[in-house]
Amino acid sequence: MELPTLKPNAFHQSRPIIPCAQCGDTLFAPEWSEYLDDRRVRHLWCCDACGYEFESMVCYPEPHAA
Ligand SMILES: [Zn+2]
Repeated sequence: MELPTLKPNAFHQSRPIIPCAQCGDTLFAPEWSEYLDDRRVRHLWCCDACGYEFESMVCYPEPHAA
């Protein structure tokens, strides 16, 4: 009898994943995150491969819209 295992894809889907804007390498976690308000988060990304730094903004939908 085997215990069910979580699929790695399901785990990663809940996290912000973004390709490097410079070299296209996959970045799995932001270097730093700033919460602007309840529904907007700004991530600062730093690429391990090329050292490029850039920002992205994540906007969540209104809570009552779901
Ligand atoms: Zn890069």
